[in-house]
Amino acid sequence: MTSSNEQLASEKEVAVNFDAYFEGELNRLRKEGNYRIFADLERHAGEFPRATRYTGDTTHEVTVWCSNDYLGMGQNPLVREAMHAAIEKCGTGAGGTRNISGTNHYHLLLEAELADLHHKEAALIFTSGYVSNWASLGTLGSKIPNCVILSDSLNHASMIEGIRHSRADKVIWKHNDVDDLRAKLAAIDPDRPKIVAFESVYSMDGDIAPIAEICDAADEFGAMTYLDEVHAVGLYGPRGGGVAEREGLMDRVTVIEGTLGKAFGVLGGYIAGSAAMCDFVRSFSSGFIFTTALPPAIAAGATASIRHLKESQIERDLQKERVALVRARFDALGIPHMDNPSHIIPVMVNDPVHCRNISDILLDQYGIYIQPINYPTVPKGTERLRITPSPLHTDEDIDHLVQALNELWSQCALARNVA
Ligand SMILES: *Cc1c(COP(=O)(O)O)cnc(C)c1O
Repeated sequence: MTSSNEQLASEKEVAVNFDAYFEGELNRLRKEGNYRIFADLERHAGEFPRATRYTGDTTHEVTVWCSNDYLGMGQNPLVREAMHAAIEKCGTGAGGTRNISGTNHYHLLLEAELADLHHKEAALIFTSGYVSNWASLGTLGSKIPNCVILSDSLNHASMIEGIRHSRADKVIWKHNDVDDLRAKLAAIDPDRPKIVAFESVYSMDGDIAPIAEICDAADEFGAMTYLDEVHAVGLYGPRGGGVAEREGLMDRVTVIEGTLGKAFGVLGGYIAGSAAMCDFVRSFSSGFIFTTALPPAIAAGATASIRHLKESQIERDLQKERVALVRARFDALGIPHMDNPSHIIPVMVNDPVHCRNISDILLDQYGIYIQPINYPTVPKGTERLRITPSPLHTDEDIDHLVQALNELWSQCALARNVA
């Protein structure tokens, strides 16, 4: 009785002053150290990774070390020219949903480019990678009769929300653990349709899924596979088709999902797969149908970026070299970073307050911008600085970064690895 009365009283309080409730919840976040503060940046075209940071009434120059524009394609002259040309030709917005006047020829060129990138029959674009996961998993999970979705425990929020939205039964398998996946597949009625949903490169730890083994397990139980290659497209494989391309596995994955907003440097998301699957999602997905199509210039820029990275290895080669150099320099000083086979370097601080403070000092005193990654993005006690070296970070940038972290590691008396 008491507790339900208290509940009622607090609901009543909320109802008379909504803003007081909002402020209270925000203060709770601040106390926990989980309140998000965005750096106010103006990126400089032609000078990646430089940006101007705005703070109240002043500005200062910073070097960005945490961008997902992994190869600096967001400033590439070919991509910029393609976007300028498309604006001059078609104007700004698409002018409608894909269904009602908004399908521009540039959208179809982009979808053909993506289908070719992944050697699939078709591709379908969305307004973001988040929407592509949410809408595609939502549609497949709800429309495939009695479907079960087997989801890796570290899948991205957009996949989790898509699965939730589908209302399909969900089974979570241990991260990258094929034995656990197989056991969970075996426990499901063999007649039920199943989807195995996972990622290739995981964003926060930078580890990579055993795609071949996961496909073997899925095949054994007749499950469809859904692979998020958001952190891999443009970066891995001889044409930037992702880890599945690098490993010769694209034909074994039923649905490849990717973004145009990270390594391709623009905006948008997509799925690639069979013509029937793409047409099915196109026809039944609310998140595809009832929203304005991407601006034609965005599609033109993404197409130019994908085309360039299909041919050019320079960006990928230089990025690998820069990543290896940063890791080696950290190793020499015992600065702890998570070992992984990708381009993502998580420097482990393992404390939310230190993580936030180090990030602030780097930004304010060294002009180095690395956003702190705290709970709930990563588990408590594994707070980190997620560093993404690009082909455009110079030797001097690396010297400056390494020296700054070395000083801060001493100042804050943080643990070092012993050589
Ligand atoms: C960023 C991200 C997305 C969403 O892509 P956007 O194009 O940024 O919306 C999807 N999946 C993963 C794993 C991501 O990290």
